[in-house]
Formats: sequence, structure tokens, C-alpha cells
Amino acid sequence: MYRVGIDIGGTNVKIGILEAPSGEIVWKKEISNPQKGYQHLGRAVYDEIYGSGCIEKIEAVGIAVPGEIDRDTGTVISAFNLDFFNVPLKSEFEQLFHGISVKLCNDGEAAIIGELSCGALKGKKNAIMLTIGTGVGGGIVFEGRLFRGGHGRGSEPGHILLKYRGKKCTCGAFGCVEAYCSAKWIEEQGEKAGFEGGAKAVFEAAENGDVKAGAIISEFIDNLAAAIASIANLLDPEAVVIGGGVGCAGDFLFKPLQEAVNQKAFAGRTYEVLPSKNGNDAGFIGAALL
Ligand SMILES: [Zn+2]
Repeated sequence: MYRVGIDIGGTNVKIGILEAPSGEIVWKKEISNPQKGYQHLGRAVYDEIYGSGCIEKIEAVGIAVPGEIDRDTGTVISAFNLDFFNVPLKSEFEQLFHGISVKLCNDGEAAIIGELSCGALKGKKNAIMLTIGTGVGGGIVFEGRLFRGGHGRGSEPGHILLKYRGKKCTCGAFGCVEAYCSAKWIEEQGEKAGFEGGAKAVFEAAENGDVKAGAIISEFIDNLAAAIASIANLLDPEAVVIGGGVGCAGDFLFKPLQEAVNQKAFAGRTYEVLPSKNGNDAGFIGAALL
């Protein structure tokens, strides 16, 4: 039998079909988020899965959402980058899938579960993951289990205050990690410096020696290293994994990032910073497994 994992991002939606219990990916697709409301999104995703030809063998659907969810009711309480507020996503998808069991989870939690079961965190017991795309999400594995906090709401490392009273964040607060360490921040800085093509174009230009792009990426690394060192100092993890689009940036990002994290960490400590092994697939893999 198959399980579906859907990772809804502000820009793209990643869909995967996995065989259970092996976890082997049998089909996957990435579509752009139509941003026309959750019903439109549900229909677009369902049509893709229907087109895969696997629909008859699907027994469960897991959906990863970049925001706060109510697991019991299957409602997205708030997902700022999707403009979803009190959205009944579970019932919408159950209707589309004619009663197949649908569960929601946070995208950062899904990604870290994906890495823990078959990725960069295999065998680790205490670890942190940051997923960096349009926004910044993440999750914590504590003593081998997903840490969900005192209310089941999980951690929001993207909304730790990095520069108190700084730039306004999508969540309404000022100076969050997300406001300075997201692909959106790189894109905005890039636009100001005359780059078109988003964060990827700025990374590419920096790698090719462009001075302006290089300065943007250096500032990004400095901000991100401060965020990672702060979170790691609190939890002393075996590793910090970076996922999302930014996690695919390679040595060009990870080498200086590792150095900057070690420089900023408490009293000569070092924390291993790793790229996600499942890349952009980590979210849907975790959603399907959860
Ligand atoms: Zn925020």
C-alpha cells in the first residue's frame, strides 16, 4: 500500500507517494502554489495525485503545513506564508480523497522526522532542524523523540527574536529569525541590488564572484550563524540540519556557515551543521511517515 506526503510551501508544493512500510518513493512531483485559497490548492494537488495512477493503492495522506495546526480538529490555525487562518484542511482533503485518513503536521516537524528516519539524522537522539525557504520553520528531536512542547504546538525556531525591535516579520513581531534568515530576505536584498531571479540568482552570482551578491550572502550567513548558535547553545544538539531550498546551497554556504557557528557558539563549543540529506523531499517524506 502507499502513503501520500504533501509539503505545502509558500512558493511550491511538494507531493510524494511512498510505499509503506519501506518508505521508498514511488512517485513525486513539485508544483507551484497557486495561492488562490485552500480549496483551489486541494483540487490542484488531488489532480496531480490522481494523474500518478497510484490513487487506488493509497491508504493514508499526511500534509505538512508551514504554521500552527490543531491536530485534533485537523485545522490550520495560522500559516502566515500561505495566508491560511482557521482553515479546515483535513476535512477538505478527506472529501477530495473520499474518506481516506488525512493527518496534518507542522512542516518543520515533518522535515526532521524525514531526516531522522532516512536522512542526515539517522541514529541521532538530540538534534535540531531548520527549514529555510520562503519562511523559516524547524523542529527538535529530544532523546530520540519529536519534541512537541507543553501544548503540543511544537517549536518555532523561525520566530526567535534575532534582532529585537528589528525588521517586521510575517508573524507580526519584530526582528524574528525568519525576517533575516529566509530565502525571502535574500530575494529582497537581491532586488534592492538589482538582481532578478530570487535567492537562487543571488547565490549563483555570489559563487561567480559578484561583490554585491557576495556581501548579501555574507550578511545572511552571519545572521543565520547567530540564530543557529543561540538555538544550539540552549539544546546542545548532536547536529543542526538545514533543509528547505537554502539547504541545497552546498559547500559554498555550509563551509563559512560552520565556521561562523563555531565562532559564535558558547565558550569554544562546536556544533555540527549539516545539509539535509533528503533535500526538498524531507518534508513530504516526514509527512507521509507521520
Ligand atoms: Zn516572526
